[in-house]
Amino acid sequence: MTNVFYLKGLDCPDCGNKLENSIKELASVKQAQLTFALGKLEVEYTDETEKVVKLIKEHGCSIAKETNGEVVSSVKEQEQHLVKTNNFKKIIFQVLAGGVVSAVVSGTVLLLAVLLWLLEMPETIVITSFAGAIIIGGWATAHQGIKSLAQLKFDMNVLMIVALTGAVFIGEWLEGAIIAFLFALSHTLENYSLDKTRQAVKELMTLAPPTATVKKTAQEMVLPIEQVQVGDIVIVRPGERMAMDGKVIVGSSWVNEAPVTGESSLVAKTVAATVYAGTVNEGGYLEISVTKLARESTVSKIIQLVEKALADKPPVQKFIDRFAAYYTPAILVIALGMVTIPTLILGQELLTWIYRALALLLVACPCALIISTPVALVTAMGSAAKTGVLIKGGFYLEQMAKVKTIAFDKTGTLTKGKPRISNVTSFDIDQKIMLQAAYSLEKMSEHPLAKSLCLYAGELGITTLPVALFKVQSGQGVTGQLKQQGSDNAVTWLIGNIKFLLSSGVEIDEQARIVLNKQVASGDTVIGVGCIPGSSSKGILAGLISFRDELRPETIEAMLKIKKLGLDTVMLTGDNTAVANKIANLAAIKQVASQLLPGDKLTEIKKITESKGAVAMVGDGINDAPALAQASVGIAMGASGTDTALETADVALLGDDLNKISFLVVLSRKTLRIIKQNIVMAIGLKLIAVALITTGFFTLWMAVLADMGTTLVVTLNGLRLLKIRDIDVSK
Ligand code: ADP
Ligand code: MG
Repeated sequence: MTNVFYLKGLDCPDCGNKLENSIKELASVKQAQLTFALGKLEVEYTDETEKVVKLIKEHGCSIAKETNGEVVSSVKEQEQHLVKTNNFKKIIFQVLAGGVVSAVVSGTVLLLAVLLWLLEMPETIVITSFAGAIIIGGWATAHQGIKSLAQLKFDMNVLMIVALTGAVFIGEWLEGAIIAFLFALSHTLENYSLDKTRQAVKELMTLAPPTATVKKTAQEMVLPIEQVQVGDIVIVRPGERMAMDGKVIVGSSWVNEAPVTGESSLVAKTVAATVYAGTVNEGGYLEISVTKLARESTVSKIIQLVEKALADKPPVQKFIDRFAAYYTPAILVIALGMVTIPTLILGQELLTWIYRALALLLVACPCALIISTPVALVTAMGSAAKTGVLIKGGFYLEQMAKVKTIAFDKTGTLTKGKPRISNVTSFDIDQKIMLQAAYSLEKMSEHPLAKSLCLYAGELGITTLPVALFKVQSGQGVTGQLKQQGSDNAVTWLIGNIKFLLSSGVEIDEQARIVLNKQVASGDTVIGVGCIPGSSSKGILAGLISFRDELRPETIEAMLKIKKLGLDTVMLTGDNTAVANKIANLAAIKQVASQLLPGDKLTEIKKITESKGAVAMVGDGINDAPALAQASVGIAMGASGTDTALETADVALLGDDLNKISFLVVLSRKTLRIIKQNIVMAIGLKLIAVALITTGFFTLWMAVLADMGTTLVVTLNGLRLLKIRDIDVSK
């Protein structure tokens, strides 16, 4: 069985690794994987749930949520049991657990001890109080540290034990108590702020409600979403969230799709419309026929992608992890040298140098450094996902910050991709027959032009014929043979751009040429319909169909913002030059490359990368796959629910909103900046502290404060990414 736990109180990636390893050591555990950025632990085991839960608790974590409810309830029962049987035990447990309570109690005891000391009470009383503060504040850490020591692992907890024992040993009771208190406090604060960085991602996970109201044989039942089957009918009342992806079968309403697309405008839904789990029904009563299982719904996919993205460590983080493995032992050796060299060789005072070595141990904790990158990434990717920008990994966020040029596909990206037919002309053939041939073939294509043609022909009441040998020439057109009733003389039909028809042997006569030129000059996309009889290699042009596509409403503003950010824009299209120029003009894009095949788009991206640096490519994901893959960052316009776009690109814009590109640029630049700041701060502050310690300026508690301060500052700095705004062009 596989169980997923979401943990609370996981405040250091190193502790995470240890928990993961000790779970892996359990006999019945096959696999265990912990994603620190999410606090997510996935365990595959045969039984021993109890042992896993016990280990989690022993590592100072609690379970916020897990996938098969029973564990949490059994933990809750245990805790309730504890309350009932022994209140005193529970209080002791809380005080020593290392959380808020420990921090508050040890702080209070510390204040009390200082007061007693100032009042010049007998030494035994004062020392006992200080000892009390040390035990309360340091218990949880010491507990962990002893376990690590037993396994010969040197970590922060071990350093802490050494420092605390050392302080007591040299009689620095006050220092010891302050350290223990600060340590408990920093744990609490770190936990709190780290949980906050995970918040954006967590919000995503709670989007879909856990239960659905299912209508079964005139009865309503509330079922957990995991039990709802495809084809079930789910009732969604006004104000409720959709629990499942599905199609409306009864009713109509307005739906807020912000949770899935990041766009908070209301979308009208009537019978046959698709709705997504997590979106909110703002209007009327709806009945929905479920089309996807809960774990396959669009939100689930989004969540899985974000989780996967966070589990893949970007290069910066991998480097830091490797660094940390050698770091702690190295520090222990240096501390040992600090005690032995000055005292044994230079004959200086032992206590002074023990004290300084202890300060070094305290300040040396690499937590801030280890945490510096993940806190920024998890916050950035979480807040991006919330606005409908799905980033497939920290790596792409790093790349995006370095991009110099953004290339755009035209149809479906800069334009709405819903071209309307503006002209139909046929030559020497009945228009209906020409359209019937075109319709029959385009019915099998996914291209926006094809869809529009099908709609048009359908409205005219034209029917389709069966097609044989259908072929898609990506970025050019489609071909196939029609089986006309009563005749077995196979004719090959071709539909696509003129260049493609010409290269396939279709000839265009003088009369057709005149019409063609006129249509092209008007700035429309013109496709030709040609046919080649089975026995011949030459064909004739049967007709021309023109399409007019509009810019997306946000295109102009989006391009302005991108330029304001100092980026170049380029348009790459397979369409003819006249249309390309017209659209580029409207969108204020200066650089245009037209009549490109999908492979040419790739070459174009390569060229720009070589001459100008990293390029991001934005495409609709239908035939731009090679270019999207070649670009440093491939961005897909991922009209919610199109799985291919979600899967192939590095970044998906769920709401199909070009405005999100500038947001992505701003976010990525800021994230990279914050990561760099964090690394510099983490290392810089440590170096300063070490310098101060060796010169004797630093006391022990200052060392702890410096360490805790750095970790907190780094985390808070990462949290700034929750509030990233897109740039404003109106200023
Ligand atoms: P864009 O780069 O603008 O998105 P595409 O690469 O999708 O354009 O297509 C380029 C050109 O190829 C279209 O303008 C059209 O002329 C032709 N074409 C591609 N697929 C089809 C199709 N299914 N039916 C007709 N024409 C097509
Ligand atoms: Mg396209």
